[in-house]
Amino acid sequence: MYSKFQNKFLTADNKKRAFINAQKIKTLWFNTGTLCNLACKGCYIDSSPKNDRLAYLSIDEFKSFVNESIQNKMGTEQIGFTGGEPFMNRDIFKMIRYSLENDFKTLVLTNAMKPMLNNKSDLFKLNHLNLTIRVSIDHYSKDKHEQIRGPNSWAPMIEGLKWLSNNKFNYCLATRLLWNEDEKTTRKNFKKFIKNNELQINADSKTQLVTFAEMDEKSDTPEITTECWKILNKNPNEVMCSNSRMIVKKKENNHPSVIACTLLPYNSEFDLGNTLKESLKKIYLNHPHCSKFCVLGGSSCS
Ligand code: SF4
Ligand code: SF4
Repeated sequence: MYSKFQNKFLTADNKKRAFINAQKIKTLWFNTGTLCNLACKGCYIDSSPKNDRLAYLSIDEFKSFVNESIQNKMGTEQIGFTGGEPFMNRDIFKMIRYSLENDFKTLVLTNAMKPMLNNKSDLFKLNHLNLTIRVSIDHYSKDKHEQIRGPNSWAPMIEGLKWLSNNKFNYCLATRLLWNEDEKTTRKNFKKFIKNNELQINADSKTQLVTFAEMDEKSDTPEITTECWKILNKNPNEVMCSNSRMIVKKKENNHPSVIACTLLPYNSEFDLGNTLKESLKKIYLNHPHCSKFCVLGGSSCS
């Protein structure tokens, strides 16, 4: 008898643990480094101006994974950049350029503040149909946004959003469902925010305004067995790790690693090796996040 989420292959009540088999890597995420200009409450990766647990990825490291994907026809359609704050990585513009030159849809997650605004001319040169900038905004009101993101985090974010809009970038918003506010109310109030700021976003669109359920790490969650897919009528191919991977460079390692998904950057069980090819192995859902956010909650960072 084990306690929950201890044995990779078996659940606490001795049933076969569910697993995922990936055939393709449709979205290839790159964590550009955990350093960030902000230290938001509840940041899932604990980013801050001091946390460099995931080091800055270099352009050569980035290229080696993109090239591996192209050479091995791994089915990659989209390249995503996340952090920390990606615009703090000095190679970010070279990476975006390489991604666009190779015809990938390219998504950059940002807080749209100083690190982006200080590099407007570099970003302007890369404006492209295939490039989307996703701006995080934790609430449509300044007050609540700053409760999470800290004082003086609202005005620069608005400046960044307006700059993206005025310069005709593809951009979208991502927000968190906090303060027990339901999605319908959130979308309704974002509509007003969008109108007031003259932004070009459809608040009813799930891709233009992405919402994330709050990640309550402490609440208890059941383990997922191989039988659960049928019982829950859930397709394993809908889960993020069935079609994506994230590259991270752990500070203590010389070489970047391939991680199963964006949600578990620090957990060694979900570190799948140094190449994309070797990362295509069975992933056992041996973490509360797998159950809570991916199978039962239906939430995914992409
Ligand atoms: S801006 Fe994003 S990465 Fe930076 S601390 Fe906030 S949530 Fe984390
Ligand atoms: S957290 Fe979700 S995406 Fe990540 S390994 Fe678990 S099931 Fe897969």
